Amino acid sequence: MSNERLYRTEGIVIRRRDQGEADRVLTLCTPQGKIEVVAKGVRKIRSRKAGHVELFSRSNFVVSRVPYSWDIVSQVETVEPHAVLREDLTRGAYARYVVELLDCFFAQDEGGPALFDLLDRTLTWLCQERDLDLVVRFYEQHLLGLAGFRPELFRCVGEHAALVLLSPRGAQGERRPYGLDPARGGALCPKCYDGCKGVQTVVPLSPAALGFLQECQRGPYTRLRGQSVAPALYAEAERVMQHYITYHLEHSVRSGVFLRQLRWEKGTRGSETTL
Ligand SMILES: [Zn+2]
Repeated sequence: MSNERLYRTEGIVIRRRDQGEADRVLTLCTPQGKIEVVAKGVRKIRSRKAGHVELFSRSNFVVSRVPYSWDIVSQVETVEPHAVLREDLTRGAYARYVVELLDCFFAQDEGGPALFDLLDRTLTWLCQERDLDLVVRFYEQHLLGLAGFRPELFRCVGEHAALVLLSPRGAQGERRPYGLDPARGGALCPKCYDGCKGVQTVVPLSPAALGFLQECQRGPYTRLRGQSVAPALYAEAERVMQHYITYHLEHSVRSGVFLRQLRWEKGTRGSETTL
């Protein structure tokens, strides 16, 4: 009697690596969490499954459970290929950053329906939108939230007897820089930032960048879309989030480095590609 069991799941391919002569191990983000499965024979020229297990594609899988080994893809059919992400170098670079970040923050079996939806929507936006930087800044805030690393951006994480709310876009118009302290998990008011300028892990955060990141966290994306954000503000928001993420992962995100290189080589913002 076979002890294999079949199950069905939707999944988005976030990583692929070769295995043996002709197989591939796929890392999938599914509504039940992140899983690894093996797709047998997909590197053979005549494989019928090969076209359905491309990076970034969302597919319906039928998988056989195998004790003490990878589960095996028995059937697969693509629902949404997100093909633009494999055809357009810039959009693909943003998408690689998006899936790598998920892979870094979520271990095997972690995640759930909200993460799956966030990833699916983000990949769709990266296929369609003009402003790719906005898409990834929004994604970062929400991914970190689901991973339990949401930076506190609305109240100072410094030493205060009472709650100090941060409203960089408020009527007072604070002009001094705020700070971001990954070790304490969020933003510092200008007074607290002033007090820890010597601390290496604390970085400055302009009122405009704090306001922008708050908006990304608050969402929804449809409300942010269409805003015009200055390139310098995007650059700052990217830099501070990179700092925050690197601190918590204890390493940098490789595809993020590649993305910045690519943008630098093109000498233009990544968002200005055309389809
Ligand atoms: Zn403070």
